[in-house]
Amino acid sequence: MFKRFSARKMVGFNTEQLSKILKGRFILVFDDGELLTTARETIFSSIFWVFHQQNPQMPMKKSHHVRNYLGAFQPDGNEWKTQKYFNSKSHIDVGNAVYWDAHEVRNVDKPHRFDKKLCLLLYQTVNNVYNFLASLDGYELSFNDKDYLQIRFHPFVDAAQKALTANPKIISEQSKKVLNFVKTSPELDNNPLAKAVRSGLVRELQFMQCIFVRGFIEDNDGHIFEEPILKGFIDGLSQFENFIESRAASKSLLYNKKVIQFVEYFSRTLQIQAMTVKNLHKGDCGSNSYERWLVESAVIDHATGRTLKDCDLVNIEGKYYKLSPDDKELKVVRKTDTHLIGKTIFLRSPIAGCRHPDPHGICSYCFGELAASYDEHNLGMQCGADAGEQQTQGVLSQKHAQSSSIADPIVIDDSNKHIFKTNDERDSYIITDNLIGKDYYIILNKAECPGFIDLDYIESVNEISSITHVSEITCVTFVIKNKEFEDQYTVEVCLGSRRSSLSKQMLAYIKENKPIIKDNNYVINMKNWPGGAPFSILPLAQESPYIRAAKIQSLVLGDSKNLNSRDTPDAPKELLRKLYTLLNTGQNVNLALVEVIVYSLSIKNTMTGDYFLPKEGDRMGLGINSKVMAMRSLGGLMALEDHAKVILDVESYEDKPRLDHSFDVLLKPQEHVLNYDPEAFESSY
Ligand SMILES: [Zn+2]
Repeated sequence: MFKRFSARKMVGFNTEQLSKILKGRFILVFDDGELLTTARETIFSSIFWVFHQQNPQMPMKKSHHVRNYLGAFQPDGNEWKTQKYFNSKSHIDVGNAVYWDAHEVRNVDKPHRFDKKLCLLLYQTVNNVYNFLASLDGYELSFNDKDYLQIRFHPFVDAAQKALTANPKIISEQSKKVLNFVKTSPELDNNPLAKAVRSGLVRELQFMQCIFVRGFIEDNDGHIFEEPILKGFIDGLSQFENFIESRAASKSLLYNKKVIQFVEYFSRTLQIQAMTVKNLHKGDCGSNSYERWLVESAVIDHATGRTLKDCDLVNIEGKYYKLSPDDKELKVVRKTDTHLIGKTIFLRSPIAGCRHPDPHGICSYCFGELAASYDEHNLGMQCGADAGEQQTQGVLSQKHAQSSSIADPIVIDDSNKHIFKTNDERDSYIITDNLIGKDYYIILNKAECPGFIDLDYIESVNEISSITHVSEITCVTFVIKNKEFEDQYTVEVCLGSRRSSLSKQMLAYIKENKPIIKDNNYVINMKNWPGGAPFSILPLAQESPYIRAAKIQSLVLGDSKNLNSRDTPDAPKELLRKLYTLLNTGQNVNLALVEVIVYSLSIKNTMTGDYFLPKEGDRMGLGINSKVMAMRSLGGLMALEDHAKVILDVESYEDKPRLDHSFDVLLKPQEHVLNYDPEAFESSY
């Protein structure tokens, strides 16, 4: 019933010509299948087909058409409905698919080449998309108060608002219901505001605050006001409600200044430090060392259904791996490789050891397929900037992401204060000092600790990247032995639906001191528990971006107190896992970038003062940021901070081999120019 056209034949026409020829709906035939689509969608997609014009050998795939990302047409009477709306990211999806398919055919022998010409073409094409959309301004839609009121006073929305009570769970449930209604109800198909929500043009959360409910308000110090605002902005706020709502603005001011300053300054430190890993050499060094990596599935918050941490496959995509170190062929991790979940794979990684002789560089196979996105400019700086940008974005979007607050800090009941205390952030339970060394044991529900079985199969608890997979506990029973009798206390270690997970230190203790299974419970003797470390930790979900950024900073910079404990062969791997987990909770930073950051902190030996980057077969340890910068060439440190300290430090004048820094040219231009050899490590790629 629909006409069929060949998509490839349309490549010969430009967007303007197609606008005149194409009408209505038709079937487009691609190299890998067919799509039922419309003239409008095809005209939009054709802007990207300039890639096919310039590279006739590349395939013509369904993924090069925007309809591919919107789901199939669904016949619905006379109306035609789609599963998804065209949104502000649709052109990125199409552009991405077209770019990498073109990259593949253009760089068959050199898959890691940074293709400047193609990049320029993509840049121009995206610009053309904007120009094309801007030329459609005659068809723009606007909305007015009536559109707001149509939604607000729709019987469904009105009833849902009347059902609201001062209960966070009910607020969240009703909000979900209303949002779903606005997004799917046929009655609102022609409401421009509903259309804007459906296409992602306005933020769902802000829309809900206007139209439905503002909810619980949190103060700067994390205190949540007892009385929520049970209506939206469109209903008007009372004086009290205005007062407490103003705290949201105050909070964003706070984030804007203090936290952004903090995060950005750290980002700068990170970039200057990571700049030491200067060169990305395209090609394979042939290294035979691998990093063991347990591929974990996504972490979902059971209470809200939100994904806290994506499946590892998303964040290690593009890394080269083998299923066993003895395998012949290297494979590439793809997002779709779900068969890898739960398996330990062996990754090529600079942390395992790259063989490339350049003291400032690694090869593109140890880095990963992402190499094709990195040009010949300083690799470490680009990785540091990309990871830092994510932090800044996290802080910036936090002020928009404030919904009704439900996160509470841990409060220890008076009756349990002899058992537990909390840390300063109040997100971890710590066993009190007066129990340390005493004769006592704990009982945990077996069903809440599904990962205990795996503890026997791993070499060290550092292989576990998320503790929520091992245990999620609601309560724990303490049995304390006295002279004649035993005291028994059952203590809750959860907050509402947020269940806490045993800390890595605790898991290591359990691995050492095997639990006894009794009546579907684990019984663990705690006599040898040294204390200090947390017993269990609440999920990261409600962590503020500031606390998260501070954690990342202290992990990366390191403390001069643990200078020696960081210089162990396991330290780089341990830092990699911790940093990877933090950076990939609520956001995504590819493992390859995290590896470069950790690698820039790696050293051969602090004892002998060898602060060069370790290569395959070298002893490997971890330095602390301040020391690493001071013991390498001083260009970086002089660009960072505390110049007086650097100038007055005797160590700065010690004449010994130091690893160069890209900023040395600013400190000693003449020497740099004299010794500069542009071809020293140039790659033939
Ligand atoms: Zn390598």
